[in-house]
Amino acid sequence: MATIITRFPPSPTGYLHVGGARTALFNWLYARKHQGKFVLRIEDTDVVRSTQASVDAIFEAMHWLELDWDEGPYFQSRRFDLYREYLQRLLDSGDAYYCTCTQEEVEAMRKKAMASGGKPKYDGRCRERGLPRSDNAVIRFKSPLVGTTVVADVIKGDIVFQNTEQDDFVVCRSDGTPTYNFVVVVDDITMGINTVIRGDDHVMNTPKQILLYKALNSPLPVFGHVPMVLGKDKTRLSKRHGAMSVTAYRDMGFLPDAFINYLARLGWSHGDQEFFTRRELVEKFNLENIGKSAGVFDIDKLTALNADHIRAASVRQLAPRVLPFFRGKGYHAEADDYLDGVIGSLHTRSKTLVEMTEGAHFYYREDVRPYDEKAAQKFLKPEAARVLSLLAEQLNALEDLAEKSQEEAFKKVMEDTGLGFGKIAQPVRVALTGNTVSPGIFEIIAVLGKARVMARLKAAVEYIQATGA
Ligand code: GLU
Repeated sequence: MATIITRFPPSPTGYLHVGGARTALFNWLYARKHQGKFVLRIEDTDVVRSTQASVDAIFEAMHWLELDWDEGPYFQSRRFDLYREYLQRLLDSGDAYYCTCTQEEVEAMRKKAMASGGKPKYDGRCRERGLPRSDNAVIRFKSPLVGTTVVADVIKGDIVFQNTEQDDFVVCRSDGTPTYNFVVVVDDITMGINTVIRGDDHVMNTPKQILLYKALNSPLPVFGHVPMVLGKDKTRLSKRHGAMSVTAYRDMGFLPDAFINYLARLGWSHGDQEFFTRRELVEKFNLENIGKSAGVFDIDKLTALNADHIRAASVRQLAPRVLPFFRGKGYHAEADDYLDGVIGSLHTRSKTLVEMTEGAHFYYREDVRPYDEKAAQKFLKPEAARVLSLLAEQLNALEDLAEKSQEEAFKKVMEDTGLGFGKIAQPVRVALTGNTVSPGIFEIIAVLGKARVMARLKAAVEYIQATGA
């Protein structure tokens, strides 16, 4: 079998959005699964709407999603010579011709066609005139006048287009710039693309492109048009439904592997499996199981899946992802054992990296004071001072802070004070974290380490003495 070559050709007129990322992912997965090639092409022929900022944003999103490409990035804006050469081929073979009809004339033809119940189209006036090249001439493709063009879509099945509905579309404007459908075909042919998976908003372009392939004597690629991504209200996904840009999901604390898992499931299935590692996606992805109906983007499902991915990830894998979030919050965090401990204690409790960052606040504060007011009122009462001092004494005497040793220390305090574990643990929690919610008490003591624990217990005792006085 020939090497599978897929492509992702975004137009740099904005950030990479959810739908675009899914298209990129499907093409990437298909190429990786078949040890093929994945080509990145920037479709920047619309010079007015294309920006360098968008190009950068697209690269950034692709890097974050770890969708690496084997060829490119190609830029259409740098390939005009090639397009010119292919236009000449069409002219030479008689598959294209110059047309000097004015816009007003073409508009009148369209109106006339509509008035007689047909589709608005150019009537082929210059088709057989043999006009030479001139400043105001466009180049039109000579579409067949009879027959059908069939898009053999691997997702939607055969889609049949009547050639009579197709007009002689423009392949080159009078200013010399080639049009979209034409450059896409030249690129796909010259880049050896044999599998085109794209959004079904492009399906109307495909018969035109097929006609061009045929005129250029090139074999057709496999086409698959993926249904759109919709919002929960079943309308096309837009800003109203939340963030559109892929990197916004990075900033919200989603893991790239969770995000691609979710994107893949948004239009593709493998039985009822929901959780996939990247490797499993590559192994199991196929075109047959891309669904025919639109995927509905649901941030709650994405969040739940993200929690599963965070839970499944090792501390080692999470550390470099979490560090920028911690630093962004001003924590003096380093890639060290302390960070590993912090992540270890939070990683089954955090649905996003942002949540983990919030949960880690107390670990990185020099001083957990001021305490949460209610927590302090309720738990840092005069009688707690003795509990905290006793515990400090016990913990200080320990050689290590392993759970077993800590249990012993707590037991001693329970015996000395006659209090139950809960009555002891809550003031300790407030003293160590400033609040009443945190990972397990033994866990946080082990992570904080003796020096911090001692300092925080001491500070709480002082606080109680100062407020109680
Ligand atoms: N540049 C097009 C877009 O961003 C992609 C066209 C294609 O896949 O053929 O929608």
